[in-house]
Amino acid sequence: MTASSSDLFSLSERYYLPVYRPRRIVLDHGRGARVWDRDGREYVDFGAGIAVNALGHAHPPLVAALTEQAGKLWHTSNVFVSEPPLRLAEELVTASRFAQRVFFCNSGAEANEAAIKLARKWAASQGRAPAQRGILTFRGSFHGRTLAAVTAGAQPKYHEGFEPLPPGFVYSDFNDLAAAEAAMASGSVCAVLVEPVQGEGGVTPATAEFLLGLRALCDRFDALLMLDEIQCGMGRTGHLFACHAYGVTPDVVTLAKALGSGFPIGAMLVGEKAAETMQFGAHGTTFGGNPLAAAVARAALAELSSPQLLANVTRQSQAIRDALVELDAELGLFSEIRGMGLMLGAQLREAHAGKAGAILDIACDHGLLLLQAGPDVLRFVPALNIGDDDIAEGLQRLRSSLRAFVANAG
Ligand SMILES: *Cc1c(COP(=O)(O)O)cnc(C)c1O
Repeated sequence: MTASSSDLFSLSERYYLPVYRPRRIVLDHGRGARVWDRDGREYVDFGAGIAVNALGHAHPPLVAALTEQAGKLWHTSNVFVSEPPLRLAEELVTASRFAQRVFFCNSGAEANEAAIKLARKWAASQGRAPAQRGILTFRGSFHGRTLAAVTAGAQPKYHEGFEPLPPGFVYSDFNDLAAAEAAMASGSVCAVLVEPVQGEGGVTPATAEFLLGLRALCDRFDALLMLDEIQCGMGRTGHLFACHAYGVTPDVVTLAKALGSGFPIGAMLVGEKAAETMQFGAHGTTFGGNPLAAAVARAALAELSSPQLLANVTRQSQAIRDALVELDAELGLFSEIRGMGLMLGAQLREAHAGKAGAILDIACDHGLLLLQAGPDVLRFVPALNIGDDDIAEGLQRLRSSLRAFVANAG
């Protein structure tokens, strides 16, 4: 006897720490930008596992890289080296146009944790006292769920009850350069950690003035500019790195999500200024940069770097934007449509505030997997190689969903 989907789903309620509220479907398999649940229902996937499956599901070159490496060597620990992570490090350094060294880990939070430690160590090596080793971060940002990363994230809802939080973080408003300057003027900040495009916080791009201005402030106050490209990097903006889209040279970039395009891997890339800061014994990881993860990431990087793929990001971005503008003209739902490349957000008007979750439920019923970024923003982060047919079908399902939402709301 096979278990029904609802039987299976109830296992999550019984055994998982209830920190998530997953949709009541059980996903079974995927291909490209489509996913099927156990009951055979098919979905267009505009969420891509939260901007992770940048090449869709079961992308043949990734499956080939994974299975080939799986038959050779999975894990060595960092007591030994193997070829896939060495090559990946070399490829990332070259592609980044700024980095000299790489540290591999398993997730975004770990990459940011490494960056935070690096910044502190770098400041310490310059003789700065602990009180001068503050890290400036921005309200509405998201940097992961380790204790230091949630503290960096400056979102009270992720702090409550977890105090005492680690000290040494300074908060300022996103896209407010004067406020950042004021925060840095006292000399207590040794690094700025910022998402070029805020993801979880609402899909909000930094203005060019802000990001380039932060670079200038970091130069003036001798601080590291550390970009969290965990969501907006690896091609999502239409450029392989978000810093390339802005023409800004960072000191540190953190990557994860699309780096393994579905296989867990994170990385911290470090430029000249701090490349020699972390020496033997200063940091480490058991699993980070294992050959299996690195083999998949290399295959992903090769595809994500291709001009055709990056051109597709720009083209499909325009298709989604156009559809959202049209839908807004028909239904009056959005106060703003923003983002870069295939990282787009549609801000709900005041009248529909708090309704993103309800819209996601309706979309799922209409065969469309969609994400939110907070209660008021619909987030679109499909696979970067998504084709015209999947975009058209997904947008058609979005139209039906939003019409149904408005019909019910009215
Ligand atoms: C998802 C995300 C993280 C955290 O990554 P995990 O792999 O969940 O630890 C950090 N920063 C940004 C910008 C993210 O989008």
